[in-house]
Amino acid sequence: MEVVIIGAGMGGLFCGALLAKRGVRVTVLEKNASIGGGLQTFTRNGETYETGMHVAGGFNEGGILNSICRYLGIMDRLRIRESDLMLSVTYTDSGRTYDLPAGREAFIRYLSGLFPHEAENIKRYVDAVFRLSHEEKLFYLESISGIQDHTDEFFMPADEFIARYISDPELRAVLASVNPLYSGIPGHSPAYIHVMISALFMENPCWFEGGSGQLADALRSVIEQGGGKVLTRCEVTQVRVSDLNVECVVDKEGNEYRADWYISDIHPLTLIPMIEGKAFTTGYKSRLESIPDTASAFKVYVRLKPGTVRFPGHPVSIVDSRENAWKMAEYDLKDWPHGVNCFFGEGRGGYASHLTAYCLMDFAEVKEWENTRSGHRGESYEVWKRERTDRVMDLVEKRFPGIKDCAQEVFASSPLTFRDWFGAKNAGAYGFFKDAANIAGSQIPIRTKVRNLLLTGQNVNMHGIGGVPMTAIETIQTIFADDFVLNGIKQAISDKK
Ligand SMILES: Cc1cc2nc3c(=O)[nH]c(=O)nc-3n(C[C@H](O)[C@H](O)[C@H](O)COP(=O)(O)OP(=O)(O)OC[C@H]3O[C@@H](n4cnc5c(N)ncnc54)[C@H](O)[C@@H]3O)c2cc1C
Repeated sequence: MEVVIIGAGMGGLFCGALLAKRGVRVTVLEKNASIGGGLQTFTRNGETYETGMHVAGGFNEGGILNSICRYLGIMDRLRIRESDLMLSVTYTDSGRTYDLPAGREAFIRYLSGLFPHEAENIKRYVDAVFRLSHEEKLFYLESISGIQDHTDEFFMPADEFIARYISDPELRAVLASVNPLYSGIPGHSPAYIHVMISALFMENPCWFEGGSGQLADALRSVIEQGGGKVLTRCEVTQVRVSDLNVECVVDKEGNEYRADWYISDIHPLTLIPMIEGKAFTTGYKSRLESIPDTASAFKVYVRLKPGTVRFPGHPVSIVDSRENAWKMAEYDLKDWPHGVNCFFGEGRGGYASHLTAYCLMDFAEVKEWENTRSGHRGESYEVWKRERTDRVMDLVEKRFPGIKDCAQEVFASSPLTFRDWFGAKNAGAYGFFKDAANIAGSQIPIRTKVRNLLLTGQNVNMHGIGGVPMTAIETIQTIFADDFVLNGIKQAISDKK
């Protein structure tokens, strides 16, 4: 069997590696010069920065990512560093900081000490987080054949889920502090995404030492060992379909690629215009077009003077006030940003080498320059970008006084940069928005009407390290209709024991 995969993001590469492990010959086609999509790292003036993978989870012994990577034979190649805290959250108006510990019991103990009147509720909340996360069967390597039952709580809005257990407004805000990691909108973001992310990072917050590009490289090597290839600078522009079967995909240079199955890891709205003829109904297309994207991203990269800023060893969230805990993805322009997530690179002697300050941003902010090319967007764009960079750094300075003077170099990437990197129109940081108020409408199946064309990646199910690899397993299971991969992973775990 042969499979062609469009896009060498985390989804395409996990699919490719899982197929290669099964003896399938895979060809992955990637438009960029480097592979990885959100796993890409880039180096500027000797400093390596992440594009879309700052915090990871599940790489601990027995964790889901550890198990999958062990099955693929790449776990020992990965340099994973555990974070000493899940997250440190500061509210700049009150000056209060919460250092949320890693580990379920430590998390409960810490918050119960600060909010003794909520101690019982905190335990019930954390129990509910893990109980709901177990409803996502693949996450615990349970077979998903048959119907998956879910409780009402699973699909309720995340803010209502928190409020169901917790009364204290400050504690509600603290527990919501992971919401920028899923572009949270109150009343809409579903509890299942909140619990999956909270459980993953509460159990094993970690990062890739030297950058997450190493995961992309390791997955590529599995594909190549299986006789497959990953082609870069290979932009797919056409998908030829005949009689509801893909005949071949065609790249920008006119090269054709043929296979038995085709998997698309790119945004479905990037894929649709490439498909010729009437393969997809107007109804299907307009349904996809009606799903909003998550907010996009604005990131400030700061190369720090050596020996000036201590390396915290954990992510730091800075929020202007607890009342704005849910105003990262939707906000008044004049108040942007209400919050910023800071990720530090480790330098020498306990000091940080760089800072990446990450804020969510509406793509509408850059609409007027959407038809420009990188490096040629004009002076008005540069002025706008500098002003937004200053706003971000002003907020960072409130938590780390003097940090601006420690900068050797400061530059930024806007939603336009992310659009060009990942090839998605509105550059939603986490793909399609999943809406608790319209769960059926925001979920798209792996299967398409075209018999040998499947979808994978962050737009299906869930984004990030806790979602995309699981969707890759489901995508492979859709081809073979068996539990081969799951059984292989379980076998790899028992062999290790
Ligand atoms: C700023 C930011 C920070 C993030 N931080 C985290 C984090 O800390 N932890 C976490 O777990 N997740 C994080 N995420 C989310 C995570 O990066 C994504 O969910 C994940 O990388 C998505 O993988 P994917 O394979 O679905 O898509 P992508 O990574 O977008 O991959 C799609 C690939 O397809 C390629 N492509 C597009 N069009 C074509 C074409 N026509 N032909 C060929 N190739 C094409 C693209 O170049 C890209 O390589 C973050 C995302 C962003 C934007």
